[in-house]
Amino acid sequence: MRAVDIIIRKRDGADLTAEEIDFLVKGIAGGEIPDYQIAAWAMAVVWRGMTVRETTRLTLAMAESGGQLDLGGWAPGAVDKHSTGGVGDKTTLVVGPVAAASGIPVVKMSGRGLGISGGTIDKLESIPGFRTGLSREEILRQVKEIGLVACTQTAELAPADGKLYALRDVTGTVPSLPLIASSVMSKKIASGARAIVLDVKAGSGAFMGTVAEAAVLAHWMVRIGNRAGRRTVALVSGMFQPLGFAVGNALEVREAVETLQGAGPPDFREHCLTIAGHMLHLGGRARNPRLGRALAGETLDGGSALAKFRALLRAQGGEERICENLSLLPAAPCRGILAAERSGYLAEAHAGKIGLASVRLGAGRAKKGDAIDPAVGIVLRAKVGDRIKEGDPLCEIHASSPESLSQAQDALRDAFIVKRSKVDPLPLFYRTIRG
Ligand code: URA
Repeated sequence: MRAVDIIIRKRDGADLTAEEIDFLVKGIAGGEIPDYQIAAWAMAVVWRGMTVRETTRLTLAMAESGGQLDLGGWAPGAVDKHSTGGVGDKTTLVVGPVAAASGIPVVKMSGRGLGISGGTIDKLESIPGFRTGLSREEILRQVKEIGLVACTQTAELAPADGKLYALRDVTGTVPSLPLIASSVMSKKIASGARAIVLDVKAGSGAFMGTVAEAAVLAHWMVRIGNRAGRRTVALVSGMFQPLGFAVGNALEVREAVETLQGAGPPDFREHCLTIAGHMLHLGGRARNPRLGRALAGETLDGGSALAKFRALLRAQGGEERICENLSLLPAAPCRGILAAERSGYLAEAHAGKIGLASVRLGAGRAKKGDAIDPAVGIVLRAKVGDRIKEGDPLCEIHASSPESLSQAQDALRDAFIVKRSKVDPLPLFYRTIRG
């Protein structure tokens, strides 16, 4: 078998056989297929697509391309969650502790932010001292001891995806439904949990711009998860405006801690409780997601989720005192607001534009390996549907210099639209997709 023949067949629209897909994945993981052929094949997939059968085979082959974490003897009831990425999405920081404090072990392997999409690892690393690179042994010991781990993906899990994703990132081949579905699900399957809750985002701040596209991706991932023997449910959620108020690493940690303290933005709290409710249901702690949500709410309000977050910080070397003293988090030297130019109702807080402005402030990176500034970002002061008076702050900007602050003010001006007539708040969730 030759890689070039597989590329040609996909270029010409053929469905690849299981043997061809296995050959490719082995060659990617083992380094026998050069980067230019992998990239050419990925581009052929972007144009020609893949069937569900091909995508499932690709997912399983990538999941099996390295070691797999066997949580069986350590945390048999573990439930994983995964978001397809968005702006202001700090859900893991709340949902992980809530689920773990409610009796569901969570080993959450996360990534760094890329483009406008934030990454949980960058957020966690804005906490002084927090260590995200754990060995397999440390992960297993910690999940047994405290039921919660938040770390980077270990190199041996789904290495074919690691290689393919890095190439896709620089060859314009990220936006492809089969490539995204297989990338996400191969990592989830290799991470060991028997049940998975997927938070599939739709909107200007997400990979999938519309609810319909996100729903198709969600359906595919649920099918693949179930085929791999994982109980999988997907929620299609809105990413038309940022989630919560805060966008930017330390700012998002602050908001997550406030939420764990029982405050926090109402939309973000509700989002977290809904996701946690599904995790508690899949993990067998609640008869249905609604009861799961109620149990998650009790856990959050009773303070045990905050205690679990503190245990996570202690276990991974993070500054625990942030749980009561948020001023220990990094803070930006320059702050300013963007004021509304007219009165009315907020009709748009464009997640894509706000995410981009936050990246330009230094909260994200243009390419892998760029340094980020943990302190900078944007905090919304209003959400879609809110009544606004002329001169009211629409958002607060946290910048590293006066120049960067004024650039962000200019860039953000057309991210917000205020209309005279009443505007309804946006839904948090659009669909729930089960097997
Ligand atoms: N997240 C992933 O892990 N892979 C993708 O392809 C897109 C988002």
